[in-house]
Amino acid sequence: MYSIAIDGPAGAGKSTIARAIAKRIGFIYVDTGAMYRAIALYFLRKGVDGHDREAVAAGCPDIRVTLDYDSEGKQQVILNGENVSGSIRTPEVSNMASLTSAIPEVRASLLQLQRDLAATSNVLMDGRDIGTHVLPQATLKIFLTASADVRAKRRYDELVAAGTPCSYEQIRKEIIQRDKQDTEREIAPLRQAEDAVLVDSSDMTIDQVIEAVIREFDRVKGQQ
Ligand code: C5P
Repeated sequence: MYSIAIDGPAGAGKSTIARAIAKRIGFIYVDTGAMYRAIALYFLRKGVDGHDREAVAAGCPDIRVTLDYDSEGKQQVILNGENVSGSIRTPEVSNMASLTSAIPEVRASLLQLQRDLAATSNVLMDGRDIGTHVLPQATLKIFLTASADVRAKRRYDELVAAGTPCSYEQIRKEIIQRDKQDTEREIAPLRQAEDAVLVDSSDMTIDQVIEAVIREFDRVKGQQ
């Protein structure tokens, strides 16, 4: 089995790049952020405070997150039998996911599912800790980043295009706050694996990033 791990901060373009590459090379795309978002949604609906580690840990046994793929191959995330894919992309869920994902019980509840997916299919998995923790033996590890300004601008443009009113400054602040939480947490923090290839997409087009990753993949595959 082959696996490609793409990690990096919020808004670096991981999902856009990962989805396009997976389609091109026929791998399954696994968006692990969506899994953490589904768990965050569960706790938001329950009114649990994301800082309350005990309450979050106590709720974990009641949560079952699974993945499904629609007829076009697009990942759907299922929370206790309900397809929540349409409800997990709000800033409120992003912020809650960054809090609850720092709690060990939350991470433990997703780790096996993520590893099982990689054990049974060729996968391209994106997240924060895929190369460092989930798939340390991945065929290729990419650390995809971009400046905070560029990442905030991309998020802002996405939201505007979707007709969602938002403030650029607010988005920038939230992105920086989320990176800080994801980087400074004790368990599986966001960081570049030693053997990951660094790709800074600040001045690259989507197509340039896709080509760069595919070139790297062809190179490592050729070495095996
Ligand atoms: O990638 P996305 O922005 O959807 O991720 C939402 C949040 O989920 C991140 O800010 C991070 O806190 C958490 N996450 C994580 N580990 C992953 C993927 C996402 O902790 N592998």
